[in-house]
Amino acid sequence: MPTNRDYYEILGVARTAAADEIKKAFRKLALQHHPDRNKDDPKAEEKFKEAAEAYEVLSDAEKRKIYDQYGHAGVRQGGHARGFGNFEEVFQAFGDIFGMGGGRGGGGGGSVFDEFFGQFAGGGGGGHGPRRQRGATLKCQLDITLEEAARGTERTIDVARNEACAECGGGGAAPGSAPTVCPACRGKGVVHQSQGFFSIRSTCGRCQGEGEILEHPCRKCRGTGTEKARRELKVKLPAGVDTGTQVRLTGEGEPGARGGARGDLYCVVNVKEHPLFRRDVDDLHLDVPVSYGGLVLGTKIEVPTLTGPATLTVPGRTAAHTVMRLRGKGISSLRGGGPGDLLVRLTLDMPKKLTKRQEELLREMQTLDDENVSPEKKSFLGKVKDLFSS
Ligand SMILES: [Zn+2]
Ligand SMILES: [Zn+2]
Repeated sequence: MPTNRDYYEILGVARTAAADEIKKAFRKLALQHHPDRNKDDPKAEEKFKEAAEAYEVLSDAEKRKIYDQYGHAGVRQGGHARGFGNFEEVFQAFGDIFGMGGGRGGGGGGSVFDEFFGQFAGGGGGGHGPRRQRGATLKCQLDITLEEAARGTERTIDVARNEACAECGGGGAAPGSAPTVCPACRGKGVVHQSQGFFSIRSTCGRCQGEGEILEHPCRKCRGTGTEKARRELKVKLPAGVDTGTQVRLTGEGEPGARGGARGDLYCVVNVKEHPLFRRDVDDLHLDVPVSYGGLVLGTKIEVPTLTGPATLTVPGRTAAHTVMRLRGKGISSLRGGGPGDLLVRLTLDMPKKLTKRQEELLREMQTLDDENVSPEKKSFLGKVKDLFSS
């Protein structure tokens, strides 16, 4: 069940909180309520799921904007923030979908959780000296068919991005030379300036906060440490993805300046329209025309499904626009649970042209209909009569 509590309140951050504040707050809550530390405490699970839901929305700039503007209803309408059923779903969402592999408690593909708990366990990060800036995020769009969305697929994408310069190995210094400690800030990246009573801390202008300067920048990359390249990457899409689903490839974005960590690459899924099926979350809808005789007398029809044809038995006296349900013939849910259903709407197949014989038979049929008025029609006619005689 999705939560109705305010996402900012859940994470304990202000509405104006920066992205890293939100991440920090979630990391703290996730550690506190982590399933491995709170066995047999259902409340911890609730809190953990709630925090994950809040983080899922607030960590995504677009979803956060929608939430700020329209609240819970806004993000749910877009198919986001449907809430998490259990721990595994949280790990699946942040591990498999966004992290590509990984999964529970670390190991593997570098999910949000690996990142969080790895950092926690290693105790690294922070510390002294200048911080290397993380590389920019890259985006790509993947157009797939409904069939591919239903069974999952793998794509190879061609990404144009910066790679470490082959000449200097990414360091930015000309071969044979090395960056030197910035004399202006003595490697700290920041300088303090006294102005009257105040001491103002600012980024060092000499080294732009890098803490080092290149006296002999690499000629090939002019000291940036990167060069443009094309790279083929495999993207695995799990069964059940829909338009708007984002798949994160951790560390496959642009490299950071001078050896900084790579940003992430996000692939946004776009499911192309299908000539027959309409999708509604996990259900599929299909219209099938059936003849007048088929609807009245009953018939067996063959209907297409995503996994091949299926036989549908239409009982006699079926009204036009009746919807019949083929269980499990929809699309499997991204969040686990069984697949959705295929909903077949039986429409009346209105002939464009009648043969002479068809017309003869139908006229005869009409005469018989007039002679044998059905109880429903009798009751209807009776009501009409009452209306006019009163
Ligand atoms: Zn270079
Ligand atoms: Zn400096």
